[in-house]
Amino acid sequence: MKRFVLIEQLLKDKGIRLTTQRRLVVRRAVSHLHFTAEELVADVRAIEPSVARGTVYRVLILLHEAGVLEKHDFWHGPPYYEVTFGKAHHDHLMCVQCGEIIEFQEPRWERLQEEVVKQHGYQLLSHTHKLYGLCERCQHVDPKRASKPPHLHVEEVVA
Ligand SMILES: [Zn+2]
Ligand SMILES: [Zn+2]
Repeated sequence: MKRFVLIEQLLKDKGIRLTTQRRLVVRRAVSHLHFTAEELVADVRAIEPSVARGTVYRVLILLHEAGVLEKHDFWHGPPYYEVTFGKAHHDHLMCVQCGEIIEFQEPRWERLQEEVVKQHGYQLLSHTHKLYGLCERCQHVDPKRASKPPHLHVEEVVA
């Protein structure tokens, strides 16, 4: 709950006051790791059915503009959102079969990219690493019988 309080304060400092409904949306967004807009809509409506879809989308834009929310575009499916405020830097690993997303931190990687950037005379501002694969469970499922996400074939994964 502490992150929520800090985010609300941060928004207040920017002159944005949260209505009861917007506050609920922010609270639910903070409580999830990675979520799609529609997942958040369903989640909020399970608690308060009168919340309009537009309200949820507006809050996502608000949080994004405030710099507390990150949008992740993965290979397939809709974008995922993550309230990164107050979280340590991490990268993502996604299972292309079931859509599971795992967070990881790799200090060697972080050091290496600093070196690469320096070699080119750059200053590193940000980066994203997205790894795609099959999770342990999905490696043992017959691909012909598995439910595949749209626009994705297993052949592309192996390649
Ligand atoms: Zn999987
Ligand atoms: Zn994450």
